[in-house]
Amino acid sequence: MATVIVAGGGVIGLSIAWRAARRGFSVTVADPSPGQGATHAAAGMLTPVSEATYTEKELFALGAASLERYPGFAAELTSATGEPTGFRRTGTLQVGYDADDLAVIDELHALHDSLGVPGRRLTARECRGLEPMLDPSVRGGLLAEADGSVDPRLLTRALLAAAARAGVQLIRQPVAQLIHDAERTRPGQAPEAGSDAERTPPGHAPAPGSTPAGTPGARPQQGIRPGGVRVRGVRLADGTELTADWTVLAAGWNSAAIDGLPADCVPPLRPVKGQVVRLRAPDGFLRRTVRGIVRGSSVYLVPRESGELVVGATQEELGPDTQVTAGGLWELLRDARTLVPGITELEFTEAIARLRPGTPDNAPILGPCPAAGLVLATGHFRNGVLLTPVTADIITDYLETGRLPEVAAHFTIGRFHGDHPGPGTRPEAAGRPG
Ligand SMILES: Cc1cc2nc3c(=O)[nH]c(=O)nc-3n(C[C@H](O)[C@H](O)[C@H](O)COP(=O)(O)OP(=O)(O)OC[C@H]3O[C@@H](n4cnc5c(N)ncnc54)[C@H](O)[C@@H]3O)c2cc1C
Repeated sequence: MATVIVAGGGVIGLSIAWRAARRGFSVTVADPSPGQGATHAAAGMLTPVSEATYTEKELFALGAASLERYPGFAAELTSATGEPTGFRRTGTLQVGYDADDLAVIDELHALHDSLGVPGRRLTARECRGLEPMLDPSVRGGLLAEADGSVDPRLLTRALLAAAARAGVQLIRQPVAQLIHDAERTRPGQAPEAGSDAERTPPGHAPAPGSTPAGTPGARPQQGIRPGGVRVRGVRLADGTELTADWTVLAAGWNSAAIDGLPADCVPPLRPVKGQVVRLRAPDGFLRRTVRGIVRGSSVYLVPRESGELVVGATQEELGPDTQVTAGGLWELLRDARTLVPGITELEFTEAIARLRPGTPDNAPILGPCPAAGLVLATGHFRNGVLLTPVTADIITDYLETGRLPEVAAHFTIGRFHGDHPGPGTRPEAAGRPG
């Protein structure tokens, strides 16, 4: 039986592990705290349409392909485990507060048209008819009926249970290093000045003082010269070596910091901080996800069946900082209150910050890299929950057949080395995304 080690047990790593085990692979996941990364903070919007921009059409197609798979994916998980995922398809209502905000909504509507996606432009009155808690000064909106949402914490629980039932072994330890059969820099040894090992990948700025998880003091970006390298598995933080036919790198924003990555396989990642607030709302407070633009700044409110209401999210480029700040929360609540004044009456339950795995073009990095035996599944930035089912399918298809499905063609690491142009190039992320 072919063996797979997955480094990282967020939604991406766990879903790959589950799917691969279901297809007959013997799978081990290594993660010191599965599900506690970006996944733990995510709002769980499944909104390929509302997230789409003109520069990200390939990413829209990937998101749409993933949303299409969600009903089957969620149903399969629940039937395998009895665990709910909170998946529902209630749509997204995007609203605008002033004339400039409405102009943005009109642009989004035109984008929907150009992508062939049904989106209904609504008057202010129609918006309030759908969501009576909206402030009367909301000027109009756009309804994306196909959008959905899921509860990422429930999804994680279901994935952990499904993976365990499918025979996946979970080891609660960080991966410290990749093992391969080419000469490698020794742990803790600085690579030669100017060597490939010392190269910083495009778009990646190692944060001051940052270290890979579980390897205190180790230098990020240690690597080896590419060419003829075969990755044979991983060394865990306690020194245990695990060998496998395939190693899947799915450690979120921290993926690039794992020691021993061949230089051409280092994903260009940076942590992008997001803060969210969780409130508790009475039944029917909001019926669907409401996204708003308030004087140019965007905010979202995602209701769950459980009564939880998630208000998010900031987008901050501060390195690996996960402090919840008064300023971040104030901005979120200020904008959310402008759209839905009734939120001030709701019970506050949690404020949390986590780090999205950002890439230079906002798109994930999927599939093989120049080192044999190593597969990348990271960089999902603000769409990782949405992209979970399609990523799991893409990676397991690749493990099984050695071929990358067409839908993933734009998303290999080769795009950062000039192999192909990649999915849109403008590193633009307006307002507050997921
Ligand atoms: C505030 C916020 C809101 C968001 N909202 C949405 C949304 O509405 N919709 C959406 O689609 N996406 C959303 N996202 C993005 C989404 O959360 C991420 O894209 C997604 O969680 C990425 O999943 P992942 O498994 O790659 O990473 P993570 O969830 O970060 O998981 C990575 C895992 O790797 C582990 N790890 C780290 N280092 C190592 C190591 N050395 N060895 C082993 N394991 C390691 C960590 O412990 C962690 O469990 C949001 C993100 C944030 C922060």
